[in-house]
Amino acid sequence: MNPFIHCVTCNAVFHKTPYDQVPEHEWGAQDSPDLARTVEKDDVQDFLQDHRGHRLEELQVLEGSFMGTGDYREPVKTSYWKATNGRERFVIKGSRQSIREPLRYQLIRGDYQVTCISLEIQSREITRQLEIEFGANPLSQKKITALLHLLQEVTQGLEAAHLERVPEESLNPLEIYYKMDDVHTAFLLRRCRKIFNREEFEVIQEFVHHHREDGVLLLRGKHQIQMMEVARAEEEIIEATISAEKKRLAKKP
Ligand SMILES: [Zn+2]
Repeated sequence: MNPFIHCVTCNAVFHKTPYDQVPEHEWGAQDSPDLARTVEKDDVQDFLQDHRGHRLEELQVLEGSFMGTGDYREPVKTSYWKATNGRERFVIKGSRQSIREPLRYQLIRGDYQVTCISLEIQSREITRQLEIEFGANPLSQKKITALLHLLQEVTQGLEAAHLERVPEESLNPLEIYYKMDDVHTAFLLRRCRKIFNREEFEVIQEFVHHHREDGVLLLRGKHQIQMMEVARAEEEIIEATISAEKKRLAKKP
């Protein structure tokens, strides 16, 4: 990814894309094709012009730091990148109001982290799968509910940070699936013995082993992007002022 240009003075960012320099055709007043001329459209030049005399620097985007909110199929969403000028960290937030508009960038001083806000079971999918697997001898609604409650209870004691992440085909980057660990799976099965009779338990045991790796028993973790904004260091501003003052004094005869 191309680096961003950062105007430190205005706290504005600009991103140079290959599209910035696509020539645009501008037609003359008489509407004659002869008068058509090619105008070099160069947004970079515009940005540099607008920020002439200001302190500019390049911000390199940290590899693999892209994070988008919303569905991958959704064209209008917010994107985040981590970037650095070599000393400080920044978050660049890109968003647009509609698909026709270009991305607008906002610069945030600091960093972001993705945190899990809730871990939940796939109740609907589990119920449907149980109906399929028990087939002709369906479980009573009471037992299905008891199993769902038990699963919820076990899940409440889990933390996403300690679980193995499953690269699921989730379309939402903020929805991540996790695998229940062995200890909790064993605990779950032990508790299941109290809910189900022997025949049912055998099917349930099979069901758990079958679906915990990549099936309906995966835990769905809802995540959110948390900004850790830092204020521009006061010392940094003071230091810059002092060094400028020193230079000024040094020049004096
Ligand atoms: Zn500026």
